[in-house]
Amino acid sequence: MIVPDMNVKIAMSGLTLVTGDITRQETDAIVNAANSSLMGGGGVDGAIHGAGGPEILKECKTLRKTSLPDGLPAGKAVITTGGKLKARYVIHTVGPVWKGGNSGETELLADAYRNSLLLALETGIKTISFPSISTGAYGYPVEKASGIAIKTVVEFLENNKELDEVRFVLHSRHDLMVYEKTLQELINPDRKQQDLKG
Ligand code: ADP
Repeated sequence: MIVPDMNVKIAMSGLTLVTGDITRQETDAIVNAANSSLMGGGGVDGAIHGAGGPEILKECKTLRKTSLPDGLPAGKAVITTGGKLKARYVIHTVGPVWKGGNSGETELLADAYRNSLLLALETGIKTISFPSISTGAYGYPVEKASGIAIKTVVEFLENNKELDEVRFVLHSRHDLMVYEKTLQELINPDRKQQDLKG
């Protein structure tokens, strides 16, 4: 079965869900689920540095030597070139490590999305792709993370009309389905009621 991708309009912008590889997106910017060191890692981080080439790491090293001697804290975002990627920019953000849910994870995850979007606006970016931040090595349960991710983006798009498209690039069909369900419930709350009633 082919699970259809989803596309909805939020105020003036498109919100899209797709499966795929974030490094192949042609949006103005792609977001890296980085770690505080900004020195690369596994998952999305490794894929971005691998596909984007050494220019990205060079700019990250400069950031570490100048404005971020202690690294990038969770919830914050910085921008570099996209190097050899189709995307012109990479926005690096750090999601929270899941510690059971009582360590401020919700707010930090929302901050990671919000600060990435703010940086995109400041840079004049019109289209941006996000991975599912924190749900890989950082262990955030995808059902919970998708709710924060989608709510934060929808709220942002309702209050800021400058972006043309925000795209979530999910790495698996399962994650796509979780995000789709979350988005459907958010834009059509009656549906949840009906589902509960069976
Ligand atoms: P974190 O450390 O924030 O948890 P990860 O990179 O480990 O970040 O994983 C975040 C999510 O991104 C996971 O769902 C993972 O499967 C997915 N992912 C890994 N590689 C890619 C890729 N190339 N494109 C899109 N998503 C990816």
